[in-house]
Amino acid sequence: MLKRDRQCRICKKAEAVEADHWPLDRKTLVAMGLDPDNPEYGRGLCHSCHSSETARYQPGGWYRHAPW
Ligand SMILES: [Zn+2]
Repeated sequence: MLKRDRQCRICKKAEAVEADHWPLDRKTLVAMGLDPDNPEYGRGLCHSCHSSETARYQPGGWYRHAPW
């Protein structure tokens, strides 16, 4: 999906470097029997937007395992 989304889908300024599952998260896609790797269910984001989106929609997500 990063080939499709060359620009960040949120700020539309930075280069898209990370693939984000949207509008459904990976767990939901799998639970619905859908392919989470299908580009239809994702979007490309820049690093800063991806980080803020992840923090907002998945509290306790990736940063839960941080050492601090
Ligand atoms: Zn961005």
